[in-house]
Amino acid sequence: MMKPHLVVLFLLGFLPLASGQELFDLKPVADGVYAALAKPAFRVNSNAAIIMLDDGVLVVDTHSKPSAARALIEQIKKLTPKPVKYVVNTHFHYDHYQGNEAYPSSWPGGVEIISSEATRKNIQRLGIPRIKNEILTLPEEIAKLNQDLAKASTAEQKKAIQENLRQATAYLAELKTVQVTLPTMTFDRSLILHRGSRTVEILWLGRAHTDGDVFVYLPQEKVLVTGDALHGWTPFMGDSYPYDWIQTLDTAEKLDFDSVIGGHGDVIHGKEKFELWKAYLQDLMDRTASSYSQGDSLDSAKKSVADFLIKKYADKFDPAFPGSVVGNVAKAYQVIAFAR
Ligand SMILES: [Zn+2]
Repeated sequence: MMKPHLVVLFLLGFLPLASGQELFDLKPVADGVYAALAKPAFRVNSNAAIIMLDDGVLVVDTHSKPSAARALIEQIKKLTPKPVKYVVNTHFHYDHYQGNEAYPSSWPGGVEIISSEATRKNIQRLGIPRIKNEILTLPEEIAKLNQDLAKASTAEQKKAIQENLRQATAYLAELKTVQVTLPTMTFDRSLILHRGSRTVEILWLGRAHTDGDVFVYLPQEKVLVTGDALHGWTPFMGDSYPYDWIQTLDTAEKLDFDSVIGGHGDVIHGKEKFELWKAYLQDLMDRTASSYSQGDSLDSAKKSVADFLIKKYADKFDPAFPGSVVGNVAKAYQVIAFAR
């Protein structure tokens, strides 16, 4: 996920977060395996997976800010006295890695941060400039929220915008202090932890949502952690490789699992969602290619392809789908016109 998260917060009805409230709902998925489902926030936090090992804990993804990771660490400490020894970053998007520093600072010298080689490079090349850019552009967004506040007509709207303003201001202040913390251990295809009672397979299965997406697979417990390669919302495609993504989902789907912890939304059961995402991505690419073949401009492709996809898929995705799909058509058009 990258940008339109404000939209999600609006759609969820301005759920305010009282300060001090827990940021995650912990949901047991298998013995000693939890999904930490992120509650709505001004800048979205990714879900995490918490996996107990014999002598420590492995956590997948670290959210959009160190304070969110620290909030999860407090929740983990209520589950177990074991230290977090491994953190996995599924990919380089801000909402999955910007909290990294919280782990080594909580357990100095004792935490390995694991990612694919591509994800580590992406954090260096793209993640860091994006943080700097956001520090410069977020004040405009805050100014816009202040304008919205002045125009708000109901007490409820005012309260919701004030909460967004509070979170946005705190996020900007925190962003300025983030110490980008790179993965300390990388791999190209797979890294397997054999830890007594549990085996954890950390896998790169092909390009998908980004070129460095990692899946975390527990073969005995039949649990798969998918990051943003598959989740409960609408796919965000800005940094994606759509044709490869279909193939990668096909490969992941062949693993033997019952439960899926995605980067956003609730825990997913079974494989239907893999079929849905593959079909959606295929239709998106086919329809956009056919529109492009007929000489359609980007604007007319956006309209015709989005209309088709909304009719076919809106009831199968989250409420933000009609807004997100237009960006997906623009991405598809760019891939078809310029390749990558
Ligand atoms: Zn993402």
